[in-house]
Amino acid sequence: MMWALYIFTGLVVLAAVLYLMGNYTFWLPFRGAGLPRIVMLHQVTPHTAASGMNMPPQKFEQLLQYLVKKGSVFCFVSELEQYQHQKNVVALSFDDGFMDNYQYAYPLLKKYGAKATIFLATQIEGIEKLTAEQIVEMAESGVVEFGAHTQHHVNLLKLSDDEAYREMQLSRQDVQALTGDCPSFAYPFGRFNERHQQMARQIGFKNAVSTRKKIEAYSAENQFNLPRVSTHGAMNALQMRIALAKGRYKL
Ligand SMILES: [Zn+2]
Repeated sequence: MMWALYIFTGLVVLAAVLYLMGNYTFWLPFRGAGLPRIVMLHQVTPHTAASGMNMPPQKFEQLLQYLVKKGSVFCFVSELEQYQHQKNVVALSFDDGFMDNYQYAYPLLKKYGAKATIFLATQIEGIEKLTAEQIVEMAESGVVEFGAHTQHHVNLLKLSDDEAYREMQLSRQDVQALTGDCPSFAYPFGRFNERHQQMARQIGFKNAVSTRKKIEAYSAENQFNLPRVSTHGAMNALQMRIALAKGRYKL
């Protein structure tokens, strides 16, 4: 009857391996501490459910505590080039410009001495947006840097090149009018092509982030297509660590 035990044990091990692969992206390689983590976030609010778009404040605080404990060196997205030879570099980034970034994320960023870059879709409709006063206050604090994310949160691939250029350039002007600076760009929906990367350069952005779920060295090749670490508000502590080690979460 030993064969039955072997088969049973084999099935249990197989089930365990499949479970762990499914839940914790164990098959992805760990990425070295010499590579920067550009973390992608959107909302930080206790008022809607945890999701790929919302990391509730309590979870965001856990993330910051973990990063601080690991000895992370926080920088703005625009500073990644100058930090490229340091270890444990983390650039937190928030897309769109939700008001909860001021209400819930900003106090925690100050508490833990963490910097973040907020990419504003300056004329976006249908969300509760940061006010001009909040943006100015955060920019002046030195804790938050603002970048652009087009004016109307558009899919650049659906626009003519002229329209795409305008959306990108005018969002930069809107941000500059508020804060005096706008060094980085984030492509809405992660949708763009080679020409949009060229536009970002021509318009004067120093770099641009995508939604590629990777951890890579900063280089001339990916400077306008920087990958980010994806997050989910319902990640547990282990999933959070693995996302930061490998670039993507799996729930
Ligand atoms: Zn967005």
